[in-house]
Amino acid sequence: MANLKLTDVEKTYGGAVNVLNHIDLDIKTGELIVFVGPSGCGKSTLLRMIAGLEKITSGTLEIDGQVVNDVPPSQRGIAMVFQSYALYPHMTVRENMSFALKIAKKPQDEIDASVERAAKMLQLDEYLDRLPKALSGGQRQRVAIGRSIVRDPKVYLFDEPLSNLDAALRVATRIEIAQLKEKMPDSTMIYVTHDQVEAMTLATRIVVLANKGIAQVGSPLELYERPNSEFVAQFIGSPAMNLLPGEVVGTGPQTTVRMQRGGTAVSDYPTKDSDMGLKVNVGVRPEDMVETTGDAIFEGKVDFIEALGEVTLLYFEKQDNQAAVIGKLAGIHTDVRGKSVRLAAAPAKVHLFANGVSLLYR
Ligand code: ADP
Ligand code: MG
Repeated sequence: MANLKLTDVEKTYGGAVNVLNHIDLDIKTGELIVFVGPSGCGKSTLLRMIAGLEKITSGTLEIDGQVVNDVPPSQRGIAMVFQSYALYPHMTVRENMSFALKIAKKPQDEIDASVERAAKMLQLDEYLDRLPKALSGGQRQRVAIGRSIVRDPKVYLFDEPLSNLDAALRVATRIEIAQLKEKMPDSTMIYVTHDQVEAMTLATRIVVLANKGIAQVGSPLELYERPNSEFVAQFIGSPAMNLLPGEVVGTGPQTTVRMQRGGTAVSDYPTKDSDMGLKVNVGVRPEDMVETTGDAIFEGKVDFIEALGEVTLLYFEKQDNQAAVIGKLAGIHTDVRGKSVRLAAAPAKVHLFANGVSLLYR
C-alpha cells in the first residue's frame, strides 16, 4: 500500500546536464503507472530518483505523505527490477530469492514462507532448486521479480524488464506481470517500457515523457482517443497517426476542414466562429481510414503494401515532402498495390491540431 507524490521535481546531472523539469505526478495505491517516451527522455532517471538511486535536484518526492528525498533506498520500501536480471549464478533459485531476507537476518521459517509464496505466485515452485543457468530467460526474469516480492515492498519499479527477452517470451511474461498485479491489488507499480503493447495492456495510466517534462498523463484509451498534442498522437499507436494539412471552413459542434491536397474532412472536435480559416493538421489513425467512393480526406496511389495476415498496411505515394500516409485495412488486400484509393474516416475518428496542440486542449 503506497501513494506516491512528486512535486515540481527537477533533475540536473553534475550541475550541468538538465534532464527533467517540473514533474508533478500523483500515484495512488494499486495503480500500475507506465512511463513511455523517446530514448534518452529521462524515464530511467525518474525511476531511479523514486528508488533513491539518484538524487533529486529540486522538488519533493513523498511516499504516503512523508517526504523521502533524503531517505536511503533500502528504507523506502521500494523494490526495483531491471532489464538485466543479475542473478547470482552459483546460487539456486531458492537461495537467490532468499538472499535479501537472509542479509536482513529474518527467521528461517519466515524466509521459507515468503519464498514459497512468491514462487507459487510466479509459477516457479518446480524450479526452486535449480541454478539460473538451467532456466530460460523468462524464468530468470521471474526469479528477479520473485527476489523483490519476498521483501514485500510497498512499491515495485520495473525498468524495461522484458526488453532482453525474445518476442514470444515477452508476450508470455507480459501476461504473467499483468496476472501478478491482479494477485497484488494493493501494490503500486511503476513500469518503464518502449513497447506500445506493454504500455497499452498493463497500464492503469500512462505517463508520456518528452522534452524534459510530462507531455500527457491518462488511461491508455484516453491517450489513444484524445491525445493532447501531435507528439502524443504520433507516439501512441502503431503505425503512427497520419497528419494531413488543411484549413477550417466550417465551425460548430462539428468542424469541416478543406484538405490542402483536395477533399474534405469532418471532425467531431468543436470549433468557434473565430476558428474559420485556421490552419490545422487533420489526424487520422491508419486503422480508422476506410475506403470510400464519396467525399474523401485523402486520395492517393498505393506505393507499397505489407500484408500481415490479420491486416494489410497500405503505404501511399509521398506528396510534397510529407511523411507517407499509411492505411490499415482489415484482412488481406494484395490487389491494391499501384491502385488509387480514396480514404475517409468517421467524424469521431478525425482529430484536429493547430500548432501541434489538440483543439480539445486549447
Ligand atoms: P531513458 O531511460 O528515457 O532512455 P535516461 O533517464 O537513461 O533516459 O537518460 C536521460 C538523459 O540523462 C540522457 O540524455 C542521458 O544521457 C542523461 N544521463 C543519464 N544518466 C546520466 C549521468 N549519470 N550523468 C549525466 N547524464 C546522464
Ligand atoms: Mg532507460
